[in-house]
Amino acid sequence: MDYLKGLNESQYEAVTTLEGPLMVLAGAGSGKTRVLTMRIAHLITNGVDPFNILALTFTNKAAREMKERIAKVVGESDARSLWMGTFHSVFARLLRSEAHYLGFPSNFTIYDTQDSLNVLKKVLKEMNIDSDVYKPKKVLGRISQYKNNLITVNAYFNNPEIIEADERANMKLMGEIYRKYVDTCFRSGAMDFDDLLLRTNELLTRFPEVLAKYQDRFRYILVDEYQDTNHSQYLIVKALASKFENICVVGDDAQSIYSFRGANIYNILNFKKDYPDAHTVSLEQNYRSTQNIVNAANVVISKNLQQFKKNVFSENEEGEKIKIYRSLSDADEANFVASNIWEIRNREQRKFEEFAILYRTNSQTRAFEDALRKRNIPYRVYGGLSFYQRKEVKDLIGYLRLLVNENDSEALLRVINYPARGIGETTQNKLIVFADQNNISIAELLSNLGFYAPRLGLNNGVLNKLGEFWSMIKAFQVMLKQDNVYNVAMEVSKRSGLIKLLKDDQTPEGISRVENVQELLNSMQGFLEEQQQLEDGDASLSNFLENIALSADTQRNDDEEDMVSLMTIHLSKGLEFPVVHLVGLEENLFPSFMSSSSREELEEERRLFYVALTRAEKQAFFTYAISRFQWGKITDAEPSRFLSEIDSEFLEFINPAMERRTINRSGLSSSIFDEAPSAETPFFKKKEAKRTIGSTPKEEAVPKNLKPVATARIINPSGQSSQDIEVGDHVRHDRFGVGEVIFLDGTDPNNIKAKVHFANEGEKNLILKFAKLTKI
Ligand code: ATP
Ligand code: MG
Repeated sequence: MDYLKGLNESQYEAVTTLEGPLMVLAGAGSGKTRVLTMRIAHLITNGVDPFNILALTFTNKAAREMKERIAKVVGESDARSLWMGTFHSVFARLLRSEAHYLGFPSNFTIYDTQDSLNVLKKVLKEMNIDSDVYKPKKVLGRISQYKNNLITVNAYFNNPEIIEADERANMKLMGEIYRKYVDTCFRSGAMDFDDLLLRTNELLTRFPEVLAKYQDRFRYILVDEYQDTNHSQYLIVKALASKFENICVVGDDAQSIYSFRGANIYNILNFKKDYPDAHTVSLEQNYRSTQNIVNAANVVISKNLQQFKKNVFSENEEGEKIKIYRSLSDADEANFVASNIWEIRNREQRKFEEFAILYRTNSQTRAFEDALRKRNIPYRVYGGLSFYQRKEVKDLIGYLRLLVNENDSEALLRVINYPARGIGETTQNKLIVFADQNNISIAELLSNLGFYAPRLGLNNGVLNKLGEFWSMIKAFQVMLKQDNVYNVAMEVSKRSGLIKLLKDDQTPEGISRVENVQELLNSMQGFLEEQQQLEDGDASLSNFLENIALSADTQRNDDEEDMVSLMTIHLSKGLEFPVVHLVGLEENLFPSFMSSSSREELEEERRLFYVALTRAEKQAFFTYAISRFQWGKITDAEPSRFLSEIDSEFLEFINPAMERRTINRSGLSSSIFDEAPSAETPFFKKKEAKRTIGSTPKEEAVPKNLKPVATARIINPSGQSSQDIEVGDHVRHDRFGVGEVIFLDGTDPNNIKAKVHFANEGEKNLILKFAKLTKI
């Protein structure tokens, strides 16, 4: 029982209390996930059949890691039999076996958010609804809310309160849109993400025999990150656990960050009400982070009124202070982070995978990707536009989806005229409307084209093209019955004309699109091999498609594992990294401008901040920019209020000489800003401060022959000398805007070179004589 040795007393208690309801409510890094993992191992060691254990995690990555750890204790084969994964993946699997109860085919398609949006846009168009008023994303968000609160279409129309609420919001067509959207998905044999939970609830409520079957099957249920379960998830867990009540939930109310998606913090707070006999355990020691990080995080979260007071402490080393870097622009910020990573990796012999860059919104990624690529630092972006969502990849997947489920109209319309084969939008619209009016799928229409043709109003040329397209699909389907997924996908990409179309484009982007398709094919081969090795392997195309539909937080298997991780804070929950860069700490970005109007929203932003900071084990860096390229223009930015909420004893500025100006601009009055050295700090000191974190991009990129000189004259093209200019001066350039002089070189007045770091353009090497710089 070696695995029990490393646990503290409370952890031991939680791991070894096997029967009955149990809740672990505890702060970040206190070992909740570890307890859950060890508890599963302990259950199996004590004779519980792994088939009877259901473990729900927040990400696929977490599930994979947990399984690996459990396998080390109980062996591979037992670990493999566990039902473990995200709510969505576990219940998608359950729904596949039971789909017929609900009138769905077992090979139903899973729509990701982009697919759902496409479907919704078509619905709005067909209903002639102005999508400026009914913004698709907003409408989809509302539909998602209904679903997560188990408001089906029928329930909607029987609920005057919701109808009135939608009317007040000037969205009185919501009910009709909702109905039509649900119908369209149903007819396509497709479920969106929320359906996976809603339909599971429907299944368990309407069919007692199914409920009984899974209650018996899942005798032990464990849920990680319970604070972020939504109502729909809560009900599923409650229903399944109600027979044996062997349910263990772990969570932290201070890390509840998904209320915008319907997560309900009261699920964890009311656990005791649901299970009056529940045993509760609290964990107080944080094993993840340095004392400095834990204490700083505690200070921030204590500003929230709505929370359980928890005592969290660390007995790890005190650690370094959190370092703050103030940058001139988003590009500057990204350059700093990239070189900082490079520097620390070399100095401390770390691997790239020990670093994370966390941001508030996905749109911040690009600058970091550019900066990392420039330095050849391998990285992986989680979430956002994943590999499987790239257009060319989705196009091929569209064909494959259609082979598995021909009623999937979204897939069908995606590929029917791609590559172009003369089946234009007008024709497609006719098909959509006709299918809708006759309550059939487009596939049915195409399969019986001769029968419907007289009423379709299409000319013979178009009818022929439709016929050809459909026979091609049918031929692929026949092939799928006899051949493996890889060969079929190869054939599809060739015969459909997809590869040829992509290959015709010889631009770098075009080439990379071909590579992506190739990569998808490779991943199918990997999938085949993997499934062949598994005892209960399933190498079917529909299993492949399901895996990728639910893989938003996993990326394709790169050969290279040692990479810097880039992700939103939301995705980082539960993870840990030795070195964390938390970037974009600016008002209106973090806290987000959409979430700082009410106290509740602000408290959620603060919880996000708490989550971000507590990911760091050894070192945390905060960065912010004073101007940022956003929504197509450069905007001024002010430091985030969260920075001022942390006591100065936990913080240290990397570029201190600048801070006084920052504080003046923002009006923040935190002590850290007051204590920062004045702007008159001697130059050498400023540089020294920079060196403590290693060479900044500015220094790194300086050619060896460029030596700093103290001053130089700005000479305008006419040869006249003007103001003196020094390293460290701020200057303006006609085209590049505002920047800081980093290096000067040369004595010949006609040939003085300056290296200037511009806020928005990055570094430029200029010859002063021609550069027309103005000192500011
Ligand atoms: P979060 O709230 O962020 O999800 P958590 O409470 O789930 O955190 P874990 O991820 O389980 O915390 O643990 C944090 C780190 O502390 C992990 O690296 C884990 O291995 C380590 N840890 C937990 N308990 C102990 C212990 N008793 N001894 C040594 N290390 C421990
Ligand atoms: Mg955890």
